[in-house]
Amino acid sequence: MLVRTMAQPSPIEIDLYSDTVTRPTAEMRRFMCEAEVGDEQKHEDPTVNLLEEMVADLLGKEAAVFLPSGTMCNEIALRVHCRPGEEMLAHRTAHPIHFESGGPAALAGVNVRPLDGARGQFDAEALAAGIRPDFRHFPRSRLVWVEQTSNLGGGSIWPLARVRAVTDVARRHRLSTHLDGARLLNAVVASGVAARDWAAPFDSAWIDFTKGLGAPVGAALAGSRDFIAEAWRLKQQMGGAMRQAGIIAAGGVYALRHHVKRLAEDHANARRLAEGLAGLPGVALDPAGVETNLVFFELTGRLDAATVVERLLARGVRMGALGPRTIRAVTHLDVSAAQIERALDAAGAVLAAP
Ligand SMILES: *Cc1c(COP(=O)(O)O)cnc(C)c1O
Repeated sequence: MLVRTMAQPSPIEIDLYSDTVTRPTAEMRRFMCEAEVGDEQKHEDPTVNLLEEMVADLLGKEAAVFLPSGTMCNEIALRVHCRPGEEMLAHRTAHPIHFESGGPAALAGVNVRPLDGARGQFDAEALAAGIRPDFRHFPRSRLVWVEQTSNLGGGSIWPLARVRAVTDVARRHRLSTHLDGARLLNAVVASGVAARDWAAPFDSAWIDFTKGLGAPVGAALAGSRDFIAEAWRLKQQMGGAMRQAGIIAAGGVYALRHHVKRLAEDHANARRLAEGLAGLPGVALDPAGVETNLVFFELTGRLDAATVVERLLARGVRMGALGPRTIRAVTHLDVSAAQIERALDAAGAVLAAP
C-alpha cells in the first residue's frame, strides 16, 4: 500500500516518511559501543537480559524476549497462540494482514478474520459477531488482536474502556489476546495510562525500539514465563537467536531511559502539522483526530497523492503516499518544530500550484 518513490530528485531535508527513519543519536551510539555483551542464546548477554527485564517490568508481564523486529514479535506470538487452521480476529487494517509478507498464512497457517470499525479499531459487538460458533465447517476462533496505537487507523488510541470490553469478550470465549504495541509508548505518553495498564488484559504484548523510540534494531515480546519459553523455541527455529546482541539491545535500553517522555514533542509537532495542513486548499484533515505522531490526510483537489509526494520531495520533504489520494506524514526524534514549519511552507507551495 505504501507507494515507493524510487527516484529521489533532491536530498531529503525533512523526512516525515516514517518514525523508522531515525538514526541513533551520538549518546545512544556511545552507549551501544560501551555495552557489556555475551552470548544471548545462553542468556549470558547482560545488556539483553537487562532490556528483557525492563520490558517485562514495563508491560507487567513475567518475562520478555528480545527479537530482531516487531514483525518477528507478531509472527512468533501468532505461532505460540494458534495452531494451523485456527483463526485470529483483527481489525482489517492490522499490520500482519498488510505488511508481514503473508506471514500469518506462511508461518503460522492461520486464517485471518478481518473486523470493521472506524480508525483502525473494532468494538466488543463487532468482535462478538466475528467469533465463530463451534461448528465443524468453521475455522476455530483462537486469538484476538489489538494494535495500539493503530497505524493505518491514523495513530489512533484505543480507549482503555474499549480495550477492556474487547478483551472481556475474548476471555468469555476462551480466546487468547495479543497486543501489537509497535507504538504503545506513544499511547502511554499521549493518554497518561501506564504501559502495564494497557498490557494487563493481554496474554502477550510487545514494543518496538525502532519506531518513535529511535533505536536502530529490535523489539521485545512479553508474556507469561511459559509463553516466552515457547517464543524462545520459535526465535531459535526462525533464526532470530543472536549472539552478542547487547550491542543492539543497548539502543533499546538507552531509548527506554531517554526517549519515552520526549514522544510528547512528536505529538505536539504532529498536531501543529495537522493544523497547518488542514488550512491548505485541497486537503481534508480533521486535526482533532491526530492523537499521536501519525498524520493522515486526503487530497480533494486535482493533484493525486503520488504527485504531491513527488513535488514535496523536490522541496526536500518526504511523506508517504498510502493510496491514490491519501498521504501519511510521521513525526519523530529527527524532526524539529522548526522543520514542521518548513514542511508546511513546502506543502503550501505544492498545493497552491496549479
Ligand atoms: C512497524 C510495525 C510493525 C512491525 O515492526 P518492525 O519492527 O518494523 O518489524 C508491526 N506492527 C505495527 C503496528 C507497526 O507499525
